[in-house]
Amino acid sequence: MKLRITVLEGDGIGPEVTREAVSVLTASAGHYGYDFRFDHRSIGGAAIREHGSSLPPATLTACLESDAVLLGAVGGPEFDALPAGQRPESGLLALRRALGGYANLRPAVCYPAIADCSPLRREVVEGADVLVVRELLGGLYFSEPRGFNDQRTAAFNTMRYTAEEVERVARVAFGLARTRRRKLTSVDKANVLETSQLWREVVTRVARDFNDVTLEHIYVDACALRLMLRPTSFDVILTENLFGDILSDEAAALSGSLGMLASATIGGQVALYEPVHGSAPDIAGQNTANPLGAIATAALLLRYTARNEKAARDLETAIGDVLAAGFRTRDLCHGGHRFTPKSFLVSTKEMGAHVRRALADVIDQQHTYHAV
Ligand code: NAD
Repeated sequence: MKLRITVLEGDGIGPEVTREAVSVLTASAGHYGYDFRFDHRSIGGAAIREHGSSLPPATLTACLESDAVLLGAVGGPEFDALPAGQRPESGLLALRRALGGYANLRPAVCYPAIADCSPLRREVVEGADVLVVRELLGGLYFSEPRGFNDQRTAAFNTMRYTAEEVERVARVAFGLARTRRRKLTSVDKANVLETSQLWREVVTRVARDFNDVTLEHIYVDACALRLMLRPTSFDVILTENLFGDILSDEAAALSGSLGMLASATIGGQVALYEPVHGSAPDIAGQNTANPLGAIATAALLLRYTARNEKAARDLETAIGDVLAAGFRTRDLCHGGHRFTPKSFLVSTKEMGAHVRRALADVIDQQHTYHAV
């Protein structure tokens, strides 16, 4: 199967972590029968330097003509003084808009080997595996009217949702719940907001087409607390734009490091895959960044674009095996107490190589990966 993937490495640690993700995909392509065609293009600060624009037309065209877009991160201190519309981040926002994805998927998984990296207690986070599905194109961030009054003494935003906007993202979330533990928690504030009352009505209606998925409704404030107290009680969390923005960051605490987190944005013309972290200028170019978020992002690409659940799971198993074998990038070693005698500090490139080897072992059905 041929898959055209536009690779946008971006800035800072973006190139370092994306290269490891691409090399993992390349290494396993033959086994799963893929012919990946990687088309490397520039975005963000790198594109500003080369082409004077954070999203050059050739980059956008390549993205729109591909099967998936794999992005690293954009941004850096040298661009901070530019007006907002000319900064590297504006290119990424324009790309997201052009691709049109309305369902943002943010898995938060606690790998047992690094459960102690979470600020939460091991017994609370161990076994947590939550998928936050955030509506991305509606709600408070986009609805009109918005603005300031003439004296700039007051400001206002509008939260608006149509039944159609709620239904399409709800169908995505129910479909995903079906491939997981068949539980969907819909988050709203229906005791106060009309948009949430509509949200609840539509989600309840859509649920009738997914009788095999258990639906619960919860208010956003209660959800925020339960995520910290009993994260293992969640499977798929479905919510609107603003609530999803906040809850997905909160759920990230389950994973132990920003460098572990992956995301996918689907529903539009072309799906966009990107790790959650930014360009981390403080560690860029040092070969110390954690590439596992970018590699887990490649697993999402295998799941949602290649529609190969086996390949995605194998890669996620390989990530877990490498962590279980004790390999840690620096972000997973903060505070000497977490760095046990059985842990090994590795670079970005070494971590990528370990995942490739662990994946080869998983493919060979030897599910244990040991330090050599
Ligand atoms: P950041 O995510 O880049 O970094 C926050 C902290 O986490 C830093 O200490 C960094 O070293 C660490 N970190 C992040 N990813 C890591 C990894 N893979 N391995 C190890 N450590 C990691 O966020 P920031 O510092 O707020 O932003 C830096 C730049 O990135 C800014 O220009 C910002 O606008 C941009 N940014 C881009 C994106 C994106 O491209 N999607 C997202 C967030 C921030």
